[in-house]
Amino acid sequence: MPSHDVLIIGAGLAGQRAALAAANAGASVAIISKVHPVRSHSVAAAGGINAALNPEDSWESHAFDTVKGSDYLGDQDAIEIMCREAPDELLYLEHIGVTFHRSPDGHLGTRAFGGASAARTYYVADITGQAILHVLYEQLMKHHEQLDRYEEWFTTDLLQDEEGRCTGAICRNLRDGHLEVFNAKAVILASGGAGQAFKPTTNGLIVTGDGIAQAYRIGAKLMDMEMVQYHPTTLAGNGFLITEGARGEGAWLLNAGGERFMERYAPNKMELASRDVVSRAEQTEINEGRGFPDGTVFLDVTKVPRKRTLEALREIVNIGRDFAGVDITREPIKIRPGMHYIMGGVKTDSDGLTTIPGLYAAGEVACVSVHGGNRLGANSLLDTLIFGRRSGEHAAAQAKTMPMPTTAQSKVADVQRSIDAIIHREPGGRRVSAIKDELGTTMNQYCAVFRDAEGLATGYEIVRRLKEEAPKASIDDHGTVFNQDVIGAIELGYMLDVAETILVAAMERKESRGAQYRTDFPARNDDEWLKHIDISANGADEPKVDYSPVTITRWEPQERTY
Ligand SMILES: Cc1cc2nc3c(=O)[nH]c(=O)nc-3n(C[C@H](O)[C@H](O)[C@H](O)COP(=O)(O)OP(=O)(O)OC[C@H]3O[C@@H](n4cnc5c(N)ncnc54)[C@H](O)[C@@H]3O)c2cc1C
Repeated sequence: MPSHDVLIIGAGLAGQRAALAAANAGASVAIISKVHPVRSHSVAAAGGINAALNPEDSWESHAFDTVKGSDYLGDQDAIEIMCREAPDELLYLEHIGVTFHRSPDGHLGTRAFGGASAARTYYVADITGQAILHVLYEQLMKHHEQLDRYEEWFTTDLLQDEEGRCTGAICRNLRDGHLEVFNAKAVILASGGAGQAFKPTTNGLIVTGDGIAQAYRIGAKLMDMEMVQYHPTTLAGNGFLITEGARGEGAWLLNAGGERFMERYAPNKMELASRDVVSRAEQTEINEGRGFPDGTVFLDVTKVPRKRTLEALREIVNIGRDFAGVDITREPIKIRPGMHYIMGGVKTDSDGLTTIPGLYAAGEVACVSVHGGNRLGANSLLDTLIFGRRSGEHAAAQAKTMPMPTTAQSKVADVQRSIDAIIHREPGGRRVSAIKDELGTTMNQYCAVFRDAEGLATGYEIVRRLKEEAPKASIDDHGTVFNQDVIGAIELGYMLDVAETILVAAMERKESRGAQYRTDFPARNDDEWLKHIDISANGADEPKVDYSPVTITRWEPQERTY
């Protein structure tokens, strides 16, 4: 049985940064990923990472922008930590080899991002995530004597001892289908978000909420689950992202009448207001008949000098050409709000500790909560790195103080039985992909930019029905080698659990704040709802709702205008 001080599930930016920190602290580390680490979804991150590094900027300004962006739901102690530690983290990345853009005078270059009062987004063209991910992967190789990489292994379940402490996980080797127990003194979940529960989404096929559901199933609390971010600029149909970097470089939003409509919604910040504000503005234009008949508006990147676009936004030039047939350097492209990011996740403190002893979470799987009701663009990469590192350091220190636990093997037989049951299902039920399709379309219809009680209740009923149907969904592949059919069936269960918790939290919050806009409760209501909604399973059939206070250190809630 593989045994390590620290077991990290997920090898995106959060997982790799946690692994590096734990290895640097002397721990023996295992890092598991269901895909090759550099294919983790962090590779898609385009526009950049925030840090108040410029001497004229300050971490306090970054923190205030983040608090305001969160619509005052973010925990200010965690936000202070993130923004204070950001400049050192950015310099660390540069020193280990991330080739951040430099301006002609040799200084690190920045671009503006939404909701920020200063240009503080550092970037590598529009492949920032890829650049950082590859450098971290190279760094991990230096630690090969104490760090084992399990690439293309799929975690199915978290394990607990009799006292409820998390002591490891059960994982399936995708190459041959065999199951293994991984034993650990500390487990860090870094398994990313849950975008595939929506359709369309900017998130890749692997982003299926596995870690959120696995933690929820063993009793961990989830927090802020109702807060799902719709990004203002995604391609109609396939959901591909056009990075906020485009608006940061100067692109405009126009309705079908050619009007720069953000003047009416956010006259000071225009296209660079917070994402929730811009997405609502676009959707209002579309709903009130000022968009195009296919439910889109224009993003006009021709406002950016062509040379600059080709240098700094080359990936979206390719996306426009290949997936919309549009040369964005010469004509506007049709876009609309699309599901992008989940602010909620496994509730943690600022060292990544969850409500389950021995279990940490970092990155998009986690909710610290630094994003509250709405994440600012380029704050997610920062979140993955700061809280990935802090989790790795804390877990390594904890591991030094305890013996290796012994994990019971008995659970493996249960998991094997449930996988065999999937493989031997009677043919005839709907396919996994058909159920997933209905789930995604349902969430996008009833739990998107605008929500109301009736729609959310309808969505909830559909998800409950799909939860009953999913265990009967038939699969075609009965083999053991790279059986993605089996994995798809397991992932569907995770997505349904996550969707259910999102809907329950969205029904519960009877106000409008950040990404949760209730047309039946259109105002923010600090008296009753300046609090987090916590969701847990606790053995019940339906999610259990609790509340926890928002931590306010120095910024009292104010009216939020841009
Ligand atoms: C198109 C796009 C562009 C973006 N651009 C930006 C940007 O410019 N700036 C910014 O700040 N944010 C951006 N974001 C958001 C940001 O990229 C993500 O929030 C962040 O990268 C998530 O990192 P992570 O490490 O938490 O998860 P991921 O990178 O998604 O990694 C998850 C890891 O977990 C593994 N895993 C998952 N489930 C299992 C399982 N069951 N068993 C084993 N392994 C598992 C996966 O294999 C993977 O290694 C963007 C997001 C998208 C979709």
